[in-house]
Amino acid sequence: MVNLPPNLSVRNNHLFIGGCDTTELAGTYGTPLYVTDEDRIRDNYQGYVTALSLYYPRTRVLYAAKANGNLSILKILAQEGAGADVFSSGEVHLALLAGMQPGFLLFNGSSKTKEDHRLAVEKGIRVSLDSLDELSQLNQVAKEAGKVVEVSFRVNPALDVPTHPKIATGLATSKFGIPATEILDAYKAALSCEHVTPVGIHCHIGSQILDIEPFAQEARVLMQVVSELHRLGVKFAFVDLGGGLGVAYDHHGSAAPTFSDYAGAVIPVCTDTFSRLGIQPEIWIEPGRSMVCDSTILLTRVNSVKRAHKTFVNVDAGFNTLIRPAMYDSFHEVLVANRAGEAACGTFTVTGPICETGDILAHDRQLPDITAGDLVAVLDTGAYGYAMASQYNGRGRCAEALVRKGEADLMRRAETTQDLMHALVTPSWLK
Ligand SMILES: *Cc1c(COP(=O)(O)O)cnc(C)c1O
Repeated sequence: MVNLPPNLSVRNNHLFIGGCDTTELAGTYGTPLYVTDEDRIRDNYQGYVTALSLYYPRTRVLYAAKANGNLSILKILAQEGAGADVFSSGEVHLALLAGMQPGFLLFNGSSKTKEDHRLAVEKGIRVSLDSLDELSQLNQVAKEAGKVVEVSFRVNPALDVPTHPKIATGLATSKFGIPATEILDAYKAALSCEHVTPVGIHCHIGSQILDIEPFAQEARVLMQVVSELHRLGVKFAFVDLGGGLGVAYDHHGSAAPTFSDYAGAVIPVCTDTFSRLGIQPEIWIEPGRSMVCDSTILLTRVNSVKRAHKTFVNVDAGFNTLIRPAMYDSFHEVLVANRAGEAACGTFTVTGPICETGDILAHDRQLPDITAGDLVAVLDTGAYGYAMASQYNGRGRCAEALVRKGEADLMRRAETTQDLMHALVTPSWLK
């Protein structure tokens, strides 16, 4: 039996989330279905705030909107007081619509358009710059608008971190950030721009990092740079440490570092430097995965079971719905939601409906006897789940439900066949 997180439980052989019976949710809203427990997100946010403020009063959590951009989730976090790391104009609009304050947003990204810059300038959102080219472009846009925009640069700390190569972002060879060796010149250039003021510094080393040491290393590199920039005359309003704290996807194995472990490793590194320099900037962090991952499960219906060289359980969600196993070889626990109290009796491979060999959600799992019509729950799918879903193979994206203390409602309906046609236009010669 897997160790269930506190928002999941088993009653009468059924899996419950946030006090709701998953078999009833699947019956009401159909499958595949993402189900998110609101309280878990609030708890995670408060967990971060509590852990950070134990070390330093001036901290702020900017939720990385790309992990799960549903408006309801952004609203929940806005209610808690969170800001957001936004990476596109679309995310800016969603975050503002959710009620987040422009001053609590940071517009990140290595490839922004003029329209992105205009939006940031118009709304008064700080921008994290990724190149000198971008600095002069933003300065020009701000000049045209007759405004001054506050910025940071993203530093590339050249750190090799223990995670999947596709989500290691702080390597010397990564496309992100400006090398620490060139960062002084970047800030000098920014200080000489009339319509740009550097007020912060930004770094993000990667995702799903289960070791605390890389975060401490990152903080040390960043504090070295902050000291040098302070001497240069940069007045820091914020230091942004990025996101990346990993979660324990394997519920049989060891636990992930806690928010307290994280805060204890990074905040003192920063506050030591701050007191030495006599400055008190805000410390920002940008967690995505660790904020929402364990709030959500994916419910998927078994269409058929095939006994071949393995026993394949063909469900209605594939990598169109959850791409992480196919893209990152990632592991998610699976349970049979309507037999959640039964003992395992065989080895099953859970496969999706997509026309590709790689469409496998879970390899060789010990599960109770499964038959067509059963309901499979894939755990820890709140981060980079729906957010990365596609319409591949002519399948509309599925619905998302929100639950709270036994109450349930949709926060996104499933797409219909009509929605597949939504953006299609016919070239004149095919009419
Ligand atoms: C993706 C990303 C994050 C969040 O990463 P997690 O691993 O989900 O915490 C934070 N900051 C930036 C700049 C990112 O690109």
